[in-house]
Amino acid sequence: MRAVVYSGYGVMPELAQVADPSCAADGVVIAVRASGVCRSDWHAWKGHDPVDLPHIGGHELAGVIAQAGPQVTRWRAGDRVTVPFACGCGQCEFCLAGEAQVCPRQTQPGFTGPGSFAELVAVRAADTNLVGLPDAVDFVAAACLGCRFATAFRAVTAHGRIRAGDWLAVHGCGGVGLSAVMIGVALGAQVVAVDVSAAALDRARELGAMFTVPGSADPAGSADPAVAIAEITGGGAHVSVDALGSPTTAACSVRCLRRRGRHVQVGLLLAGPVPLPMDLVVARELEVYGSHGMAARDYPAMMAMVADGRLRPGLLTGRVIGLADAGRALAAMDAPSPDAAGMTVISVAVSPGGV
Ligand SMILES: [Zn+2]
Ligand SMILES: [Zn+2]
Repeated sequence: MRAVVYSGYGVMPELAQVADPSCAADGVVIAVRASGVCRSDWHAWKGHDPVDLPHIGGHELAGVIAQAGPQVTRWRAGDRVTVPFACGCGQCEFCLAGEAQVCPRQTQPGFTGPGSFAELVAVRAADTNLVGLPDAVDFVAAACLGCRFATAFRAVTAHGRIRAGDWLAVHGCGGVGLSAVMIGVALGAQVVAVDVSAAALDRARELGAMFTVPGSADPAGSADPAVAIAEITGGGAHVSVDALGSPTTAACSVRCLRRRGRHVQVGLLLAGPVPLPMDLVVARELEVYGSHGMAARDYPAMMAMVADGRLRPGLLTGRVIGLADAGRALAAMDAPSPDAAGMTVISVAVSPGGV
């Protein structure tokens, strides 16, 4: 098959001919039709999140099952599917409880093994991890769902428990943040979006954010976003999401909350622990959650909103490119907030005579 491979961290990925993946007895091989280019792929490529080299990235995928292992009961070749970025083992106590997103033996295509910047990708424990695509959801829109959109959905609904009329603050308007804005607006929340990029804030406003606040790189700076949010919301947000993942945005997300508010940490903190204002967590009785994707079990509520048009992940798509341009798209993430112009999605052409 053809795949986009990098031989070292930061080395430009190249389109190459590689061996097809093998199909596990409990797994499937998916013919990739679309794959999102996500900041997590960039982190792996840069070496912030180590992977085995040479490596094929890509974890936001949608496609058609090319082959199903003999132990798979719920799926067969030809089914249109997507997968969460964190795939559970299907056997541990967490997977059996429907919480595959925290499975201690999880596999992540594009991180723990070869990913979806390829014509074929293997997924383990298919009965636990696959999600069927309704006919109304095309592959390019579906490719955004597995990581950024689903993560935002679970952060805002399961952890944030957002209700119509609540104030929702979103820190960082990249792919996850803009998804959170769209989801909050669809659920009737009043959304305040924060970012250092004016273009990202414009995009948030187009997606329905009621207010935008310039982000601050300096937590002690004069323009503290938490102060602006407290003024706009008359006392703070009910729910706040740090969609970026930095010491500054994480602390700001906690500080901008109303009493009894809920902070959801979605942005990865790959550099290690960060300080949070736990004094405020006590005094204001705040709730602090971490959110790590969303298990396949929890997709139906989101997929129903996508299928009937209440949520339109396709609006978050910017450029659609071919496999050959994946390396350049990864390198473009050296710039901050590249998603303001829309998420880049690789569309994988069906090769002649192939799957
Ligand atoms: Zn498990
Ligand atoms: Zn991702």
